[in-house]
Amino acid sequence: MTVIAIDGPSGSGKSTVAKTIAKRAGWAYLDTGAMYRAAAVWAERAGALDRPEVLPQLVRTMPLKVPLDPGDQRIYLGDEDISELIRTSFVSALVSRVSTVIPVRHVLVALQQQIVAEHRAAGIVVEGRDITTVVAPDADVRVLLTASPQVRLTRRALDQLGQADAAALAATEDEVHRRDRDDSTVAEFMTAPPGVTPIDSSELDIEQTVQAVLALVPVS
Ligand code: C5P
Repeated sequence: MTVIAIDGPSGSGKSTVAKTIAKRAGWAYLDTGAMYRAAAVWAERAGALDRPEVLPQLVRTMPLKVPLDPGDQRIYLGDEDISELIRTSFVSALVSRVSTVIPVRHVLVALQQQIVAEHRAAGIVVEGRDITTVVAPDADVRVLLTASPQVRLTRRALDQLGQADAAALAATEDEVHRRDRDDSTVAEFMTAPPGVTPIDSSELDIEQTVQAVLALVPVS
């Protein structure tokens, strides 16, 4: 049926929006960031974060179970539920060290493309940093979801710490702006390339953003 690809920096709201659309449509939902986060956990445990040359093979052998149900995003490494672990600041601080290794990206992109191919007929929403450009450049809908730096920082602080006072904003700074700077070295997700529709969610609530994306779905 349809593939909807949504890219964007941290705090742009892409996970919430992608998940909401998939739930309503009864489609699969793929959070590619969760796969990079799981890879960071796997690499850290193997003591391999400083050995980029071994990372691709390590990631290839990672026993990852990728969740595709937008209502159940529990993610497993083998039998271990790592859903909460991958959301910690500890993992957020590590993940770019794995995701900026190009051969690691090749391994995960291939896996993501296989998942998209398997779910294309039934419908799938995929979100990340390079979905519109690398993973699924032929998606039916391609969106770059942005928001102002201040709005993104505030959203992430509220998400992680439940507040957005000066201390919470300072504590979240690394997780948003430093990470985006590092991630930008390997994927273009700050400006929309031709064919990708930019949506600025700074002034939009979740429902308005969902509607802005759905307005781009071709009527069949
Ligand atoms: O989206 P989320 O913040 O969970 O992504 C975690 C990390 O995974 C990003 O900071 C980035 O390093 C990496 N990532 C990526 N390419 C994607 C999705 C995520 O490099 N398609």
